[in-house]
Amino acid sequence: MSENLCPVCEKELEWDGQYHCMACDAHYKKVGFCPECNAELEKLQACGAANYFCNTCNELKSKSKINFKFNKID
Ligand SMILES: [Zn+2]
Ligand SMILES: [Zn+2]
Repeated sequence: MSENLCPVCEKELEWDGQYHCMACDAHYKKVGFCPECNAELEKLQACGAANYFCNTCNELKSKSKINFKFNKID
């Protein structure tokens, strides 16, 4: 089961350096939002793993609780 679905057509997105929907021929950026304050989270890359930091709460957020959305890249 994939969590990476196109926000427009709900087909599975491919990864080609960015998230790509073949059906829509569009690229998307995955954006995480804080489960507590709903602020956009900052993605931190460390040792090959991605961590999500909330600048409002001033702490790292557990990935399982984050609300992810896909924003279209023009
Ligand atoms: Zn699509
Ligand atoms: Zn927060």
